[in-house]
Amino acid sequence: MAASDLINLSGLIDDAKCFALVRQHRWPEGACCPVCGSGAVIRDGHHDAQLCRQRYRCKTCSGRFDDLTGTVLAGHHQPLRVWVLCLYFMGLNLSNRQIALELGLDGSDVQAMTEQLRRGLVAKAPEVELKGEVEIDEVYVVAGHKGQPAAVAKRAGSGAGAGWQARRAAARWRRTNHPSSV
Ligand SMILES: [Zn+2]
Repeated sequence: MAASDLINLSGLIDDAKCFALVRQHRWPEGACCPVCGSGAVIRDGHHDAQLCRQRYRCKTCSGRFDDLTGTVLAGHHQPLRVWVLCLYFMGLNLSNRQIALELGLDGSDVQAMTEQLRRGLVAKAPEVELKGEVEIDEVYVVAGHKGQPAAVAKRAGSGAGAGWQARRAAARWRRTNHPSSV
């Protein structure tokens, strides 16, 4: 193993686990055909260049597909582990610039990746619709000073903390209500 692999984060990530993560996310009940939706599929070897990328054949429509077919992760030059790390950093609210630095990538590449990931892992996944009562926790609203401007001014000094709380709440809201985006 080259020394650079030891200090490069993506070099420490296990490819097999990344593909297992994708399978678990898109097919919690077992693989099914992205063309006809049939669950009658059989394993059919692995991708030539990515040995952990499982191929399948549909017994119903004879279609062939693999772990990434029909996802935003298919057909990209970045290895899956880089996408998984990108998702992880997005969950930590890192900026595109910070993610680019951590992964040693170009900022514009990372921007394209995060935009695609925000649209969802599986490209054809239906939009999440919010119905009924939607609960959002930990939202901080400054509602005026109620005759105590000095106290409000003082609190404004810790505005960075409040911003962090709001971002954390927003992240939790996204996780709860947009599971398709992770
Ligand atoms: Zn099929």
